[in-house]
Amino acid sequence: MLTIPGLCWLCRMPLAVAGWGICSICQQSLTPPPHCPRCGLEAITHPLPCGRCLLKPPPWQRLIYVDDYRAPLNVLVQRLKFSAATALAPALSRLLLCQLLAARRDGTLRLPDCIIAVPLHQTRGWRRGFNQSDLLARPLARWLGCRYQPGGLKRRRRTAIQHQLSASARSDNLRGAFTLEFPVRDLHIAIVDDVVTTGSTVAEISRLLLRNGAATVQVWCLCRTL
Ligand SMILES: [Zn+2]
Ligand SMILES: [Zn+2]
Repeated sequence: MLTIPGLCWLCRMPLAVAGWGICSICQQSLTPPPHCPRCGLEAITHPLPCGRCLLKPPPWQRLIYVDDYRAPLNVLVQRLKFSAATALAPALSRLLLCQLLAARRDGTLRLPDCIIAVPLHQTRGWRRGFNQSDLLARPLARWLGCRYQPGGLKRRRRTAIQHQLSASARSDNLRGAFTLEFPVRDLHIAIVDDVVTTGSTVAEISRLLLRNGAATVQVWCLCRTL
């Protein structure tokens, strides 16, 4: 997939606005299925929380995402992460922005005071040269007029790669893996990640924020999948 500025990343048609990256027709194919507003998983109870969340809600209050981890979005996310296609980041952030604005229009989303990105461990970040969540969070903060806190969260130690572990091993692997580098008392915070699967990483960060006095925590991601 070659990058040509001014053409849609997916269908190659000229864009009405070059910076959008993805045309309005392709964008229509990128919408989430009916899902639970709390955990983000598919649910017929939409727009009400699902049965799982009524019994055992995740520590965050709201999850916003663009689509399942499926074509064509998964291909774009892989390119962002592994082919260093950083030019894609604003186009993907814009997709997330559209979902956020739609939730604002419904009156179901409160804008956060502050946005933070899920950090990579330094050695992984150095090897890649960038943190994709940071690239997604920056334009969102600018467009929404929210504060972005780069480095607000640090990964204390390198954790094993999550998808190679079982569910309980995942949360053990993450316990104490992050440190908070700024005061969050009474702040409404949004955590930005590229893909949320089991949710154990964002759950660990949410618990850390809430333990430190954050008022509410939202999770914003490109893909939500199990
Ligand atoms: Zn297109
Ligand atoms: Zn739910």
